[in-house]
Amino acid sequence: MSSTPEEERKTINLSTGDSGFLSEIKALGAGDILECIQCAKCAATCPLVLAGFNFFNKRIIQAIFLGTRETLLDDPSIWACQSCNRCTEVCPRKLKPFEVIMAMRRVAVREFALPTMAIEGIKSLYDVGHAVYLSQAGRSRASVGLPERPYSTASNPRALKELQALLGKTALADLGIIPMGGPDVSGTCEVGQ
Ligand code: SF4
Ligand code: SF4
Repeated sequence: MSSTPEEERKTINLSTGDSGFLSEIKALGAGDILECIQCAKCAATCPLVLAGFNFFNKRIIQAIFLGTRETLLDDPSIWACQSCNRCTEVCPRKLKPFEVIMAMRRVAVREFALPTMAIEGIKSLYDVGHAVYLSQAGRSRASVGLPERPYSTASNPRALKELQALLGKTALADLGIIPMGGPDVSGTCEVGQ
């Protein structure tokens, strides 16, 4: 009996696993990944699980062990990580699952395997210093006594300029998502020195 398209979509062919994937991830900042014993403590704290994403810290590590590179790159889950670092705080093996996800993002940027939500988030990060920023929230903030803009790059032009200069020197600029080089901040900060 032939499988349905939905079943085919969920099938992962391990014989096509990328044997160099693990080494690639280790070299990109997740050198301690082999310490993982798949205990799932990190998953128990991860907002991605509650949000229903296919891949979250433990499963991303497992997929890397299996060499399922393309499957991970085709899935948007790594871009939904909230950088909360709860996973790092609870890991009994003292590894940093969050850093594994950052290493995965570096692979995705290299290959321009970015979903729309990631590209929009990166553009927003460049424009205001927040990957997610609601400019319409200013009135609501003011109504409860808060400044319309938070005390961050959103209200600090100099800090934003410095952030843009840093971002302009990353691979994100090479991809054309943000302006290459960023603004000139010579004399205002240590970027580029
Ligand atoms: S808590 Fe640590 S050891 Fe356990 S699955 Fe997560 S990363 Fe692996
Ligand atoms: S840092 Fe990312 S992977 Fe870790 S618990 Fe938070 S959302 Fe999940």
